[in-house]
Amino acid sequence: MKMLYNDRIIGRENIIDMEDRAYQFGDGVYEVIGVYDRQPFLLDEHMERLERSAKELQLKLPYATKQLKVKLEELVAVNQLVEGIIYLQVSRGIASREHYFPSSGVSPITVAYTREEERMRSVEDKGATAVLTEDIRWLRCDIKTLNLLPNVLAKQKAVENDAIESILHRGDIVTEASASNVFMVKDGNVFTHPANNYILNGITRKKIFQLCKTLGITVKEQTFTVDEMLKADEVFITATKLDVVPILKIDDKTIGNGKPGKITRKLVKEFRLCINEVVQR
Ligand code: PMP
Repeated sequence: MKMLYNDRIIGRENIIDMEDRAYQFGDGVYEVIGVYDRQPFLLDEHMERLERSAKELQLKLPYATKQLKVKLEELVAVNQLVEGIIYLQVSRGIASREHYFPSSGVSPITVAYTREEERMRSVEDKGATAVLTEDIRWLRCDIKTLNLLPNVLAKQKAVENDAIESILHRGDIVTEASASNVFMVKDGNVFTHPANNYILNGITRKKIFQLCKTLGITVKEQTFTVDEMLKADEVFITATKLDVVPILKIDDKTIGNGKPGKITRKLVKEFRLCINEVVQR
């Protein structure tokens, strides 16, 4: 398998530098991009978010995203990736370890690789369970940074409980999940946390907004409490690696009738149609 290292596509080698700031501080940004039938899905949207994350961290991207896009497409082709993901990260660079930013002569390091991954179609059809976890992250969850320790701990808790996700809450308010956005359906309306500093504005989340619009379903970007979520008709999560997954049980509480709900199923179906459009392009 080949990887992208700055602007070169090279063999996968042990090129990690001990003093890369990604390694020592998690000082960098990343994206995970889905690939369907050899084509990156919603690549422009991912590039836009990467630019925004970098800007918020005062990290100057070393390449124009247009250039980066071409390189990522080349990487997918070279690795003959049919279905899976691209992982892309940009760190602030390699410098003698000091917390403050390195001098302007230090360039950011871009790394990307691909991974074959099957889509989680059966989970989308059958649904999954989740657990509740207090959201202990910092107050800039809108930036997709490499600092993921609270997310790691939350996901581990989910795995230990045979659940797909940890749904996070700050006090009573549901924010998102360890690696996905959370939605609830109540009386035919879809609710999700507003895109502010408490959540990552998911690319899949935004796609869901578009699909709801097409389907005539109202989306309300409004906070809701854990209690409201547990009493909702339907709950679902979204992420690049999951698409749309119905949540049937949270801790020991069954959601709705314990089966994937009508609106969630509609969205799963519409999302697949969207993907098929990409595949047939
Ligand atoms: N929130 C968090 C914390 C995530 O890590 C992810 C996955 N990147 C998401 C939401 C969903 O974002 P996307 O739909 O862009 O994958």
